[in-house]
Amino acid sequence: MTTVEASPVLVVTAHPDDADFSSAGSVARWVAEGRDVIYVLCTSGDKGSDDPNMTSERLAATREQEQRNAGAVLGLKDVIFLRYPDGGVEETPEFRGQIVKLIRTYRPGIVVTQDPFRWQHRDHRTVGRVALDACFPYARDIFHYPEHIKEGLPTHKVAEVYLIGSAEADTQIDVTDYVETRMKAARCHVSQIRDPEAFEERWRKRLEEAKEKNEGRITESFKKVVFRV
Ligand SMILES: [Zn+2]
Repeated sequence: MTTVEASPVLVVTAHPDDADFSSAGSVARWVAEGRDVIYVLCTSGDKGSDDPNMTSERLAATREQEQRNAGAVLGLKDVIFLRYPDGGVEETPEFRGQIVKLIRTYRPGIVVTQDPFRWQHRDHRTVGRVALDACFPYARDIFHYPEHIKEGLPTHKVAEVYLIGSAEADTQIDVTDYVETRMKAARCHVSQIRDPEAFEERWRKRLEEAKEKNEGRITESFKKVVFRV
């Protein structure tokens, strides 16, 4: 049996850049530790522009490519796009079933998703709620989405969920050795960064401040939900 320490990590977020702007250091660390990390993007971020000459289709294609580029920097095993409309993610049995199927396919010990309990972008809240529900109880129970079982995918118990963007973060991951990889991954999201130089400068300043507060270490914070498996 795979232990939580060695098992794959499934990262389920609403938009390209959500994971890389918050958690790319942890992802780089997990990959360096030999874990498979898979990203699931529920939308392709097709509304994230204020350029009147841009189209939603072109923006989605651009942002998917940016996310694939960041995935290559981080060494992800897979990057999966579900292509729900940006701003239009709804909690449906079909959407939940897609996440359940991915959990039963990749069999992660850890699922990383967005905190549904904190007020933030509606897509973030919806994706977080659906991903948590998919872990427990839907992926675990044989009579939920039995078509997966018929296809040969057994049920799966996720051990832990790490929530991004939580106001009640209780878990820190030391990413001091991965800050350059994190910066490189974040900078792949070119369409979302108005001024790359200022972006990097701002980020480095924040890193230095965080270092001062934390005895030279840089961390990323999550709220951890532990399921009994
Ligand atoms: Zn987002």
